[in-house]
Amino acid sequence: MFEDIPVDVSPMHEGERIRAAKMFVEFAGPKSIGAELMQVVDNVDDGDLKVIGPELKDMKEGEIYPLGISVKIQGGKLEKELEGVIERRIHELSNYVKGFMHLNQRDQIWCRVSKEAHEAGFKLIHFAEALSLLLKEDFPLIEKISVNILTDEIEVEKFLLTAREAYDYRDSRARELSDEDVDVFYGCTMCQSFAPTHVCVVTPDRTALCGAINWFDCRAAARMDPEGPVFEIEKGEVIDSEKGEYYGVNTTVSEKSQGTTERVYLHSLFEYPHTACGCFEAVAFYIPELDGIGLVNRDFRGQTPMGIPFSTMAGQCSGGKQVEGFIGLSIEYMKSPKFLQADGGYQRIIWMPKELKESLAEFIPEELFDKIPTEEDAESIKDIKRFLIDNQHPVMERLNETKELDEVELVEGTNNGSNLSIEEDQGAPIAYLPEMSVPGTDGVRIILKNAKVYAEKVIIKKDKK
Ligand code: SF4
Repeated sequence: MFEDIPVDVSPMHEGERIRAAKMFVEFAGPKSIGAELMQVVDNVDDGDLKVIGPELKDMKEGEIYPLGISVKIQGGKLEKELEGVIERRIHELSNYVKGFMHLNQRDQIWCRVSKEAHEAGFKLIHFAEALSLLLKEDFPLIEKISVNILTDEIEVEKFLLTAREAYDYRDSRARELSDEDVDVFYGCTMCQSFAPTHVCVVTPDRTALCGAINWFDCRAAARMDPEGPVFEIEKGEVIDSEKGEYYGVNTTVSEKSQGTTERVYLHSLFEYPHTACGCFEAVAFYIPELDGIGLVNRDFRGQTPMGIPFSTMAGQCSGGKQVEGFIGLSIEYMKSPKFLQADGGYQRIIWMPKELKESLAEFIPEELFDKIPTEEDAESIKDIKRFLIDNQHPVMERLNETKELDEVELVEGTNNGSNLSIEEDQGAPIAYLPEMSVPGTDGVRIILKNAKVYAEKVIIKKDKK
């Protein structure tokens, strides 16, 4: 089936990581532009495989290029609603190609081709061929397929606009429904290949954390292939509507996670938050010093006020772990009226990158918009606190009520939090640890999971060395 392709194509290559030293070229990602788009259309020219722009042989080793992956499919039983779910399979199937690495989804894709593949004669047209064959094999409903790989910058820019329009259309449809309007939610285990205990729960209000699949997409996918990775979840008894806890969700997640996750709150990052694989578009993180929540998206390249970038933060909550105080989420979920509703929604958000904030201007309550600091206003927890006080953010009222504000003392002369001296009330947790191993006596090791650390007093001093 893949005889024309000079590298092996098989699921065993999924999970292959191509580090910078072994890479021939990189595509899209944080330093360029790119997108992938699946479209169900009429009149597909079956077998139309093209590279529009430079091929690998015309590229310079070590350089970064834009990339568009445009796939058009046709089939008597193919519905438009299947576009999102089939598009999401591009990630997994691309990674079957030895020497081709594909990360993320939609306009967040990030790909690399290895030097080894290039030396073996691999070209982008082979990638188009592999993708078309794998998609047809995976989805027998596809009768005709065309795959165009775009590397010309102007073409990719135009394609990006088309792709974003299509994503917006899909997302806005799902916004017309609410969790209460339906009897079934959907689950997805597509990412269990690399996060074996992770189960996504997709509801009208909670688009999947990869941002690529909404409730309608799941409905179409589950109808097409009831035994596939996307399946129905009967909501069952509502245990807590505010937190978003449902009997049916707990039962299904427990079963599909092999008993690892027994309870899930769909709309809170405390106690039993939704797990994450690693494909999320953003992370919400608890800031215990101010009892507020920060948001950071994948595109943000700077440091969060916690002194770590998105990538480090992402490592805290990926891999299917349930980590209180952290969740991976989609940008679309931030547009839902149920966005972290049990925690206070935007009333509790105390930091987010400027670009993300501006993109959500329509969805952040007007009276809060100017009260939420960005990287331009605050680079440390101390800066955030000042900004919140100056702008009368509602979280300060909350802190005052619990008398914790008076307990937080911040030392002057730091902009990264490394020089903090904080004294807190005994009742306030100062850290959440997903896992901590402590040596015990007599060869016993104590492992604390999802530990909350409480302290009467915490003093953090800058190391003079
Ligand atoms: S992130 Fe979730 S919804 Fe998206 S493909 Fe992975 S498991 Fe499915």
